[in-house]
Amino acid sequence: MLYKRSSALFAEAQNYIPGGVNSPVRAFKAVGGDPIFVKSAKGAYLHDEDGNRLIDYIASWGPLILGHAYEPVIDAVIEKAKKGTSFGMPTEIETELAKLAVSMVPNIDKIRFVNSGTEACMSAVRLARGYTGKDKIIKFAGCYHGHSDSFLIQAGSGAVTFGSPNSPGVTQGTAKDTLLAKYNDLQSVRDLIEANRGEIACIIIEPVAGNMGCIVPNHAFIHGLRDICSEEEILLVFDEVMTGFRLGKGGAQEALGVDADILCFGKVIGGGLPVGAFAANSEIMAHLAPEGPVYQAGTLSGNPLAMAAGLAMLTELNERHEVFDSLAKKTEHLHKGFESVLKHKSVPYQINRFGSMISVHFTDAPVIDFETSAKGNNETFKNYFHGMLDKGVYLPPSAFESYFLNDALTYDDLDETIAALERLEL
Ligand code: PMP
Repeated sequence: MLYKRSSALFAEAQNYIPGGVNSPVRAFKAVGGDPIFVKSAKGAYLHDEDGNRLIDYIASWGPLILGHAYEPVIDAVIEKAKKGTSFGMPTEIETELAKLAVSMVPNIDKIRFVNSGTEACMSAVRLARGYTGKDKIIKFAGCYHGHSDSFLIQAGSGAVTFGSPNSPGVTQGTAKDTLLAKYNDLQSVRDLIEANRGEIACIIIEPVAGNMGCIVPNHAFIHGLRDICSEEEILLVFDEVMTGFRLGKGGAQEALGVDADILCFGKVIGGGLPVGAFAANSEIMAHLAPEGPVYQAGTLSGNPLAMAAGLAMLTELNERHEVFDSLAKKTEHLHKGFESVLKHKSVPYQINRFGSMISVHFTDAPVIDFETSAKGNNETFKNYFHGMLDKGVYLPPSAFESYFLNDALTYDDLDETIAALERLEL
C-alpha cells in the first residue's frame, strides 16, 4: 500500500503542531513510519488520504462501538447542531442522558458530565479526596487515567515507596501523593496501605486494563480490592473510560461482579464526541459543587452536540443489549483465528481478551501486569503492526494498547484479518 499523501500531510502538520499530532500515540513513535491520515470512515472501515481501505480495530480508541458514522448518532448530532452548538446554560438533554446512564449502571444515582476521560478521572480523585478528607491515592503501574498530574507517575523502586514523576512538569509535591501498586498483586496494595494508614483517599484502577495491552484482573485480586477498600474506608474508583458501556450495559462492574464507589466514564458515553463523566451514589455526589464544596466546572460540559451523540449511542446500546454478547463472540472468533495461525509461527505470543477487548503480546510469559507486558518483543510487534497494515488491517500502533472491536465488523472482516496474519512473516 502507498501512503504518499499521508506522509506529505504529516510533514506539513509537523511545521505547525508539535510532532504533527494532537495526541502522542498517533505519531507511530512505537512502531516507526509515518502515521496515516484519515479522510473518512464508515462502519468497520477507515478510508485514508491515499485511497486505501483499512479494517479498523481501534474505533477511535473505543468510542465507536457500533462502527464509524453510525447513522442514529450522526442524525442526532446534525439535528441538534441546527438548534445551536453551545449555550453555557442547562438543557433538557443533559438530564435525559444522565437518567439513561444512571438506569444502565445499577449502583450510581448521579452523574456529572465533563469533556474527556482525563477530566473525569481528575475530578473523581478530587471528589474522593474532598469526601474522605485524605490526600493520597493508589494507582497501578501500567494503568492510564488520562494526563492530569497525579496520574503521570511511573513505577519507582518497589511498591512501598512514593511515586516519582515520569513527565517533566509534574512536581514532586504532586507525585508524593500518588502511590504505585502492581496490577493483579493484592499484597502490593496491602503493603502501601500498611505504610500509609489513614492517609489514602482512594484506589483508582482500570477494572479491565487496556493501557498495557488488554489485561484481565484475576478474581481474587479485584474482589479483594473491594474488600480492602470497605475495611479501610478507602473509596474504590473504577476508571471505566474504556470498559464503561462496552463490556455490558453496566460495564466492568457488571462483568466482574464488583461494585466501585466512584466511576469514571469516557469514550462510548459520548458516541464519538468529546464527553467524559464521573458518577457515584447521591451521598458522595452531594459533595460536588454547587451542592457541596468540591469544585469542578466546564464551559462546554454537557454540550448539546456531545449529549445528543451520547444519548443516541446509549439509547441504542440499552435497546440492543445483545450487541455486547455478539461483540464478545466476534472477539472470541478473532482470538481463536489468531491462535490457530500464531501457533504455527516461530514467535512466542500471548493473547489476552475480555469481552470486546483483546491484544497480542510477543512474549512467552503470561501478561498479567505492566512488567510482564513490557517484556513483549518490540521488533516482532513492529513487523506485526506494519505487516498487518500493509494488508489493510489497522491495529493499535503500540503493544500497550487494547484493540476495540466494533459491531460493524463482520465475520468476513475477521476472517480477512486472520488470513492477513497467516500471510505475515514474523
Ligand atoms: N482512562 C482510561 C482507562 C483511558 O483509556 C483513557 C484514554 N485512553 C483515559 C482515562 C483518558 O481519556 P481521554 O483521552 O479522553 O482524556
